[in-house]
Amino acid sequence: MPAYEYHCNTCGKDFVVFLSLKEFEANPKVSCEHCRGDNVTKKLTAFFTKTSKKS
Ligand SMILES: [Zn+2]
Repeated sequence: MPAYEYHCNTCGKDFVVFLSLKEFEANPKVSCEHCRGDNVTKKLTAFFTKTSKKS
């Protein structure tokens, strides 16, 4: 299951949410696990960012 990283604009902490692709496409309401605020910004996850291969 992919992990999606979010940044909370209320408390400034980062947290990770595990959602299936189907759940994610449904544009779920994500709340901060620290302060339960919903003013969160999605960050790029390692799953979808390019990583340099070690030679
Ligand atoms: Zn928060």
